[in-house]
Amino acid sequence: MRILVVEDEHKIANSIKKGLEQEGYATDVAYTGTEGFDLASSEEYDLILLDILLPGINGIEICKDLRKKQIHTPILILTAKGQVSDKVEGLDAGADDYLTKPFAFEELLARIRSLLRRPKDNIGSVLKCEDLTLETLTYQVKRGDKSIQLSSKEYALLEYLLRHQNQVLTKEQIINHIWDYDADVLPNTVEVYIGYLRNKIDKPFPDKPALIHTVRGFGYRLGA
Ligand code: CA
Repeated sequence: MRILVVEDEHKIANSIKKGLEQEGYATDVAYTGTEGFDLASSEEYDLILLDILLPGINGIEICKDLRKKQIHTPILILTAKGQVSDKVEGLDAGADDYLTKPFAFEELLARIRSLLRRPKDNIGSVLKCEDLTLETLTYQVKRGDKSIQLSSKEYALLEYLLRHQNQVLTKEQIINHIWDYDADVLPNTVEVYIGYLRNKIDKPFPDKPALIHTVRGFGYRLGA
Protein backbone atom coordinates (compact mmCIF):
# COMPACT_ATOMS: atom_id res chain seq x y z
CA MET A 1 0.00 0.00 0.00
CA ARG A 2 1.32 3.36 -0.98
CA ILE A 3 0.16 6.65 0.47
CA LEU A 4 0.80 10.22 -0.62
CA VAL A 5 0.80 12.89 2.07
CA VAL A 6 0.31 16.44 0.81
CA GLU A 7 0.99 18.77 3.73
CA ASP A 8 3.06 21.94 3.85
CA GLU A 9 3.82 21.87 7.55
CA HIS A 10 6.98 19.83 7.53
CA LYS A 11 6.70 18.75 11.13
CA ILE A 12 3.20 17.36 10.67
CA ALA A 13 4.02 15.83 7.28
CA ASN A 14 7.12 14.12 8.57
CA SER A 15 5.48 12.75 11.68
CA ILE A 16 2.61 11.34 9.61
CA LYS A 17 5.13 9.77 7.24
CA LYS A 18 7.07 8.25 10.09
CA GLY A 19 3.92 6.87 11.71
CA LEU A 20 2.58 5.43 8.46
CA GLU A 21 5.88 3.80 7.64
CA GLN A 22 5.90 2.13 11.03
CA GLU A 23 2.54 0.67 10.06
CA GLY A 24 4.03 -0.69 6.87
CA TYR A 25 2.65 1.86 4.39
CA ALA A 26 5.01 3.19 1.76
CA THR A 27 4.66 6.94 2.13
CA ASP A 28 5.58 9.87 -0.09
CA VAL A 29 5.37 13.46 1.03
CA ALA A 30 4.68 16.56 -1.05
CA TYR A 31 5.10 19.90 0.70
CA THR A 32 3.32 22.03 -1.89
CA GLY A 33 0.04 21.73 -3.71
CA THR A 34 1.77 21.75 -7.08
CA GLU A 35 4.10 18.93 -6.16
CA GLY A 36 1.20 17.03 -4.59
CA PHE A 37 -0.91 17.30 -7.71
CA ASP A 38 1.98 16.25 -9.95
CA LEU A 39 2.72 13.18 -7.85
CA ALA A 40 -0.93 12.25 -7.43
CA SER A 41 -1.54 12.41 -11.15
CA SER A 42 1.65 10.65 -12.26
CA GLU A 43 2.15 7.93 -9.64
CA GLU A 44 -0.12 5.14 -8.47
CA TYR A 45 -1.27 5.64 -4.91
CA ASP A 46 -3.75 3.69 -2.85
CA LEU A 47 -4.65 6.74 -0.83
CA ILE A 48 -3.96 10.47 -0.64
CA LEU A 49 -3.93 12.49 2.58
CA LEU A 50 -4.57 16.05 1.57
CA ASP A 51 -4.23 19.26 3.52
CA ILE A 52 -6.43 22.12 2.27
CA LEU A 53 -4.34 25.24 2.79
CA LEU A 54 -1.25 24.64 0.70
CA PRO A 55 1.18 26.77 -1.25
CA GLY A 56 0.59 26.48 -4.98
CA ILE A 57 -2.72 24.74 -5.59
CA ASN A 58 -5.02 24.29 -2.60
CA GLY A 59 -6.38 20.91 -1.56
CA ILE A 60 -9.89 21.51 -2.86
CA GLU A 61 -8.58 22.34 -6.34
CA ILE A 62 -6.31 19.32 -6.29
CA CYS A 63 -9.27 17.13 -5.44
CA LYS A 64 -11.41 18.55 -8.22
CA ASP A 65 -8.62 18.37 -10.79
CA LEU A 66 -7.78 14.75 -9.95
CA ARG A 67 -11.41 13.67 -10.24
CA LYS A 68 -11.68 15.59 -13.51
CA LYS A 69 -8.72 13.58 -14.76
CA GLN A 70 -10.58 10.39 -13.78
CA ILE A 71 -8.13 9.64 -10.99
CA HIS A 72 -10.25 7.98 -8.32
CA THR A 73 -7.66 7.34 -5.64
CA PRO A 74 -9.37 7.64 -2.25
CA ILE A 75 -8.71 11.08 -0.74
CA LEU A 76 -8.78 11.84 2.96
CA ILE A 77 -8.81 15.55 3.62
CA LEU A 78 -7.12 17.02 6.67
CA THR A 79 -8.93 20.17 7.76
CA ALA A 80 -8.28 22.73 10.43
CA LYS A 81 -10.50 22.50 13.44
CA GLY A 82 -14.09 23.60 13.03
CA GLN A 83 -13.91 24.52 9.37
CA VAL A 84 -17.24 22.96 8.47
CA SER A 85 -17.29 24.67 5.10
CA ASP A 86 -13.92 23.08 4.23
CA LYS A 87 -15.32 19.64 4.92
CA VAL A 88 -18.38 20.29 2.80
CA GLU A 89 -16.30 21.73 0.00
CA GLY A 90 -13.84 18.88 0.20
CA LEU A 91 -16.49 16.18 0.03
CA ASP A 92 -18.25 18.03 -2.78
CA ALA A 93 -14.93 18.24 -4.63
CA GLY A 94 -14.65 14.46 -4.59
CA ALA A 95 -12.86 13.66 -1.34
CA ASP A 96 -13.92 10.45 0.40
CA ASP A 97 -13.50 11.40 4.01
CA TYR A 98 -12.05 14.10 6.21
CA LEU A 99 -10.30 14.36 9.50
CA THR A 100 -10.09 17.44 11.66
CA LYS A 101 -6.69 18.63 12.86
CA PRO A 102 -5.39 18.05 15.44
CA PHE A 103 -6.25 14.37 15.26
CA ALA A 104 -5.27 11.25 17.08
CA PHE A 105 -2.94 9.14 14.98
CA GLU A 106 -5.00 6.06 15.86
CA GLU A 107 -8.03 7.67 14.28
CA LEU A 108 -6.08 8.54 11.15
CA LEU A 109 -5.01 4.90 10.88
CA ALA A 110 -8.57 3.68 11.37
CA ARG A 111 -9.86 5.96 8.63
CA ILE A 112 -7.05 4.92 6.30
CA ARG A 113 -7.84 1.24 6.87
CA SER A 114 -11.48 1.86 6.16
CA LEU A 115 -10.78 3.76 2.94
CA LEU A 116 -8.34 1.13 1.74
CA ARG A 117 -10.92 -1.59 2.19
CA ARG A 118 -13.38 0.26 0.03
CA PRO A 119 -13.33 -1.16 -3.48
CA LYS A 120 -12.14 1.40 -6.02
CA ASP A 121 -14.75 0.36 -8.52
CA ASN A 122 -18.13 -0.22 -6.97
CA ILE A 123 -20.00 -0.94 -10.15
CA GLY A 124 -22.07 -4.05 -10.00
CA SER A 125 -20.59 -5.49 -6.85
CA VAL A 126 -22.50 -7.71 -4.47
CA LEU A 127 -21.95 -7.07 -0.79
CA LYS A 128 -22.58 -10.04 1.42
CA CYS A 129 -22.82 -11.00 5.06
CA GLU A 130 -24.03 -14.51 5.86
CA ASP A 131 -27.15 -14.88 3.68
CA LEU A 132 -27.77 -11.14 3.41
CA THR A 133 -26.89 -9.73 0.00
CA LEU A 134 -26.96 -6.24 -1.44
CA GLU A 135 -26.47 -5.64 -5.13
CA THR A 136 -25.07 -2.18 -5.72
CA LEU A 137 -26.09 -2.13 -9.36
CA THR A 138 -29.76 -3.03 -8.95
CA TYR A 139 -30.15 -1.91 -5.30
CA GLN A 140 -31.63 -5.31 -4.59
CA VAL A 141 -31.40 -6.50 -1.01
CA LYS A 142 -32.17 -10.05 0.01
CA ARG A 143 -31.98 -12.26 3.05
CA GLY A 144 -31.76 -15.75 1.63
CA ASP A 145 -34.30 -15.75 -1.23
CA LYS A 146 -36.50 -13.14 0.35
CA SER A 147 -36.40 -9.64 -1.14
CA ILE A 148 -36.26 -6.77 1.30
CA GLN A 149 -37.57 -3.30 0.47
CA LEU A 150 -35.54 -0.46 1.94
CA SER A 151 -35.87 3.30 1.82
CA SER A 152 -32.91 5.14 0.33
CA LYS A 153 -31.51 6.08 3.75
CA GLU A 154 -31.93 2.53 5.03
CA TYR A 155 -30.18 1.28 1.92
CA ALA A 156 -27.30 3.73 2.35
CA LEU A 157 -26.95 2.73 5.98
CA LEU A 158 -26.97 -0.98 5.18
CA GLU A 159 -24.45 -0.51 2.39
CA TYR A 160 -22.16 1.39 4.75
CA LEU A 161 -22.49 -1.30 7.44
CA LEU A 162 -21.80 -4.03 4.89
CA ARG A 163 -18.72 -2.30 3.55
CA HIS A 164 -17.40 -2.11 7.10
CA GLN A 165 -18.70 -5.38 8.44
CA ASN A 166 -17.32 -6.64 11.73
CA GLN A 167 -16.08 -3.16 12.52
CA VAL A 168 -17.66 -1.10 15.26
CA LEU A 169 -18.99 2.10 13.71
CA THR A 170 -19.77 5.05 15.92
CA LYS A 171 -22.91 7.11 15.49
CA GLU A 172 -20.75 10.00 14.41
CA GLN A 173 -19.11 7.92 11.68
CA ILE A 174 -22.49 6.74 10.51
CA ILE A 175 -23.89 10.28 10.47
CA ASN A 176 -20.86 11.58 8.61
CA HIS A 177 -21.15 8.91 5.97
CA ILE A 178 -24.87 8.60 5.53
CA TRP A 179 -26.23 12.01 6.24
CA ASP A 180 -23.16 13.81 5.06
CA TYR A 181 -23.30 17.41 6.03
CA ASP A 182 -26.65 18.66 4.83
CA ALA A 183 -29.06 17.63 7.52
CA ASP A 184 -29.42 18.46 11.19
CA VAL A 185 -29.04 14.95 12.46
CA LEU A 186 -29.48 14.04 16.09
CA PRO A 187 -27.58 11.02 17.46
CA ASN A 188 -31.02 9.51 18.03
CA THR A 189 -31.61 9.46 14.28
CA VAL A 190 -29.02 6.73 13.89
CA GLU A 191 -30.75 4.59 16.52
CA VAL A 192 -34.06 5.10 14.75
CA TYR A 193 -32.66 4.00 11.40
CA ILE A 194 -30.80 1.07 12.93
CA GLY A 195 -34.19 0.07 14.38
CA TYR A 196 -35.83 0.27 10.94
CA LEU A 197 -33.10 -1.90 9.47
CA ARG A 198 -33.36 -4.47 12.26
CA ASN A 199 -37.08 -4.70 11.64
CA LYS A 200 -36.37 -5.57 8.03
CA ILE A 201 -33.23 -7.68 8.02
CA ASP A 202 -33.20 -9.38 11.43
CA LYS A 203 -36.62 -9.49 13.10
CA PRO A 204 -38.47 -11.26 10.25
CA PHE A 205 -35.86 -14.04 10.41
CA PRO A 206 -35.93 -15.34 13.99
CA ASP A 207 -34.30 -18.62 13.01
CA LYS A 208 -31.28 -16.90 11.54
CA PRO A 209 -28.44 -15.16 13.39
CA ALA A 210 -29.05 -11.45 14.01
CA LEU A 211 -26.64 -9.37 11.94
CA ILE A 212 -26.92 -5.92 13.49
CA HIS A 213 -25.34 -5.62 16.90
CA THR A 214 -25.31 -2.74 19.34
CA VAL A 215 -21.94 -2.26 20.97
CA ARG A 216 -22.95 -0.39 24.07
CA GLY A 217 -21.18 2.91 24.52
CA PHE A 218 -19.49 2.66 21.10
CA GLY A 219 -21.90 2.16 18.27
CA TYR A 220 -22.96 -0.59 15.94
CA ARG A 221 -21.48 -3.55 14.19
CA LEU A 222 -22.81 -5.66 11.36
CA GLY A 223 -21.69 -9.25 11.30
CA ALA A 224 -22.70 -12.78 12.21
CA1 CA B 1 -1.42 23.81 5.40
